[in-house]
Amino acid sequence: MAEKDYYHILGVPRNASQEEIKKAYRKLAMQYHPDKNSGNKEAEEKFKEITEAYEILSDPEKRKLYDQYGSAAFGQQGGFGGAGGFDFEDIFGTGGFEDIFESFFGGGTRRSRRGNVNRGGDIRADLTLELKDILEEKTLKIKVRRKEICEVCHGTGSRSGNQSTTCPTCGGTGAVRVAQGFFSISTTCPQCHGTGRVISDPCAACRGEGTVEKESIISIRVPAGIEDGMKLRVPGEGDMGRHNGPRGDLYVVIHVRNTTDFRREGSDLYGKVYISFPRAVFGGVVEVATLTGKKKISIPAGVQSGHMIRLRHEGLPDIRTGERGDLYFEVIVKIPKNPSFREKEILREYAKVIGEEI
Ligand SMILES: [Zn+2]
Ligand SMILES: [Zn+2]
Repeated sequence: MAEKDYYHILGVPRNASQEEIKKAYRKLAMQYHPDKNSGNKEAEEKFKEITEAYEILSDPEKRKLYDQYGSAAFGQQGGFGGAGGFDFEDIFGTGGFEDIFESFFGGGTRRSRRGNVNRGGDIRADLTLELKDILEEKTLKIKVRRKEICEVCHGTGSRSGNQSTTCPTCGGTGAVRVAQGFFSISTTCPQCHGTGRVISDPCAACRGEGTVEKESIISIRVPAGIEDGMKLRVPGEGDMGRHNGPRGDLYVVIHVRNTTDFRREGSDLYGKVYISFPRAVFGGVVEVATLTGKKKISIPAGVQSGHMIRLRHEGLPDIRTGERGDLYFEVIVKIPKNPSFREKEILREYAKVIGEEI
């Protein structure tokens, strides 16, 4: 196994603080996260590499070993998904990678995800937008299928109201021990899901879960300038928890479709404007389509193919600042493909004037 320079991989100095290492990893992970680079093998490899580097450098013990002996000290174990691992949530907050956007919802105080065994699951929804839909922040309604409180038992899961008894499987501890080779490991009790209590007279409508699946309409705020593949975390809009436990979160995966002729580069857009040869020579005003309708632009006299004309603030909003980028038009001088007899006549005449043999 080749020696790896984990500091170099994360782009931090050898004396970097834990905070610097965390920051560097977070930034790179954002960039190379598989969710943002689906199908991109190179990004996937890079993601594994930086994750491996982070796994070692973020652990003071492992870092010390690494500083002393290099990556050889970890054999194959240091790799992504190897033994040990680290807490992904610790890096990105409880919402993981998506947590970065939680500020848009003013929430993100749910830190008790693992604390409450009855917490509902996280759910995922997809939302497809067009470029013109992301010019401003929008509140949109989406339909999701999620677990809602069972109206029959009011979420208690019990037919009579509050009949629950100590779980016979785990004796109320919520955990059972399972033999694994020479060892036994503790795992969440499958009967009571870790609560230590079971319903003795389960509600027929929800089979004692306290929740039933339903379709719901949820309003979500979509920040202006959102990019394809980003995820929005909406705290507390996931599945209802068992027996009135807190809700999980909703993650909305954003798909931004570009049905325009523009190429998107961050908040800037790039298009083309086709003009005739005489228009290029004499200049003048031509009409172009922008995201918000038709606009007139001035073509300078004597313009050349490839010249860029900028329309300020006609691009897309920057997701962080909200400031709109620019829209660029590349000038392309059209050459007639099938000129008429008259056109050819005039062009021959023109060629003669400029002394060109045709
Ligand atoms: Zn019920
Ligand atoms: Zn149990």
